[in-house]
Amino acid sequence: MGALDYFLLTLLFFGAVNALQVLGFDMQFGQVGVVNLAYILLVAIGAYATAIASVQPAGHIIAVTYIGGFGWGFPWNLLFGIAVTVAAAFLLSTIAFRRLRYDYLALVLVSVGEAVLLLATNQTNIVNGETGIVGVTGPLQNSLSNSAWYIFMSLLAVAALVVMCIFYWRVESSPLGRLFKGVREDELLVDSIGRNSARLKSMGFLLGAACAGLAGGLLVLFIGGWSVGGWQPGETFIIVAALILGGRGRITGALVGAFVLMELFLQGGSLLKLPVSPVTLPVYQQLIAGIAILAILWWRPQGLFPEKKEKFLPSLNSRDVSKEKADQNVLASDEGYDLAQELKNIEKVSVLENLDGQMAIEISNLVKSYGGVAAVNGVSLSIPRGAFYGIIGPNGSGKSTLVDCISGVVRDYEGSVQFGGMDITGWPVHKISKLGLLRTFQTSRLFGPMSSLSNVVIAAHDQPGEKFLQAVFGKWRTAQSGPVARARELLVSYGLSSRENAYAAELSGGQRRLLELARLSIMHPVAVLLDEPFAGVSPIQRAQLTRRLMSLKDAGVTVVMIEHRLELVEQLCDRIGVMAEGRIIAEGTMEELRSDKAVLSAYLGSVGYDEARM
Ligand code: ADP
Ligand code: MG
Repeated sequence: MGALDYFLLTLLFFGAVNALQVLGFDMQFGQVGVVNLAYILLVAIGAYATAIASVQPAGHIIAVTYIGGFGWGFPWNLLFGIAVTVAAAFLLSTIAFRRLRYDYLALVLVSVGEAVLLLATNQTNIVNGETGIVGVTGPLQNSLSNSAWYIFMSLLAVAALVVMCIFYWRVESSPLGRLFKGVREDELLVDSIGRNSARLKSMGFLLGAACAGLAGGLLVLFIGGWSVGGWQPGETFIIVAALILGGRGRITGALVGAFVLMELFLQGGSLLKLPVSPVTLPVYQQLIAGIAILAILWWRPQGLFPEKKEKFLPSLNSRDVSKEKADQNVLASDEGYDLAQELKNIEKVSVLENLDGQMAIEISNLVKSYGGVAAVNGVSLSIPRGAFYGIIGPNGSGKSTLVDCISGVVRDYEGSVQFGGMDITGWPVHKISKLGLLRTFQTSRLFGPMSSLSNVVIAAHDQPGEKFLQAVFGKWRTAQSGPVARARELLVSYGLSSRENAYAAELSGGQRRLLELARLSIMHPVAVLLDEPFAGVSPIQRAQLTRRLMSLKDAGVTVVMIEHRLELVEQLCDRIGVMAEGRIIAEGTMEELRSDKAVLSAYLGSVGYDEARM
């Protein structure tokens, strides 16, 4: 074998390993949305763990110290490396993911990455300090000829890449992958469809870590050793650049990004024999990565291969004229809407049916303060089953905060909340949502880069392929037809069938609100909390939305609605609570409230209300 053959095999090996690294980063960033700026740390941990599993104990060599030295062969050393990386990622996720905002999380991860590298460099007994570990023997290295071993290692790396690609593709296109992307877009929304976003996020993070550990382990088995200098934070930057270039959230994006940036630009430089010294090489590489990021963000911010919409069969044209007609008919008519029937037909796993309390929601003495100011200041409220309960009150009177507490978005409040006789005080959103106590938000929340249909399908419960093993090995594709068919029926009912393939982000304000209700409906709600469902809805669409809300009530769903427009409240609600300064100051029908002095004064003192209407 000539020098060029060795060079090409090396290029093949590194190409596969680089692609593995970008793929793992994409599982974290493209799937669950963690900008892991300590990513290279995970690759390094995989490499070192593999190394110390492979080599003999340090004792017999003078001035060389490291932990471990198990003398294990392949594949145990590599598997150990992957396991340690996943364990480290688990540790990292439990420390860093807790209640950290997106931008802070990135900062924390950068700092942790730096800190660990410093520790590894200066605490010489962990991985032998700056000198690092040498003398790792690759699999079959002693029994194969040098050229055969190069071929073997390249094929091993390519095989690992192929396996990870299949694995990635299975997960990414499964219902689990859909939830992953949901987490990336809006964690709270994922919780409010009854899934645990924190668990999903950790899961995606750990899958990415496994891929990183695999890449690191392969590297060290090929090179035979490594030192801290090879894992500088700038390496993460190149991986980020590769993924942004290729396009996140898609296997093609990760592979193309890795190939174009890391192979053509970075490795290709040495093929052209550019006069660059090994010392300045990393500087040039980061410069190229930086220029690549800027260029791609300018010309094609989605990357060369942007993420695609989920495809459901049969695929439909998003601008189907007859469907638009049908939608208009549905929205214009009072009938032809069978949500009530749809909900009644479903055997509900309803807490309300298991318990015989008359009240759907009971709140007692609820207090929630923000920085010493009580947003909700001692609210006690009983909402009967099947009621359509309105909450009105001036801006800032604590209406949204009350709904936040009931739904679990805010958990550190005083007092108690019961749902169907069950104490749900302090429960997290996803557990409360699972019971069928669902909510919408004051500003409508949808998964913007998903189609309308996906936005409804994602919420359907008990879908095969949401669990990890099912997603990888299960036959979820055929089982999808149930939830998809139901979601399509709902879209028809809500007059959105012509928009089923449109991105949620493209919908009008009214359509967004309707889609939110369709999403609630597929989850078989027992009770819904609607925070200003008419906000952003045009006057024409108001009547349509009103009808949809009435049919929710007809279906036996308990509805709590915060709303400003009193004529809508009067039309829809059978009982109304008036909030002012964190308290319920009056309760009753609109008729009763009109003659209530406290209500009048609360409204007369506030801007934006037409007090004459009271
Ligand atoms: P409403 O929905 O009735 O308009 P909110 O519940 O949104 O009222 O707000 C009630 C009060 O609590 C307001 O004074 C608001 O500024 C305050 N508040 C609400 N959320 C927060 C928060 N996350 N941090 C600090 N203050 C908040
Ligand atoms: Mg509000």
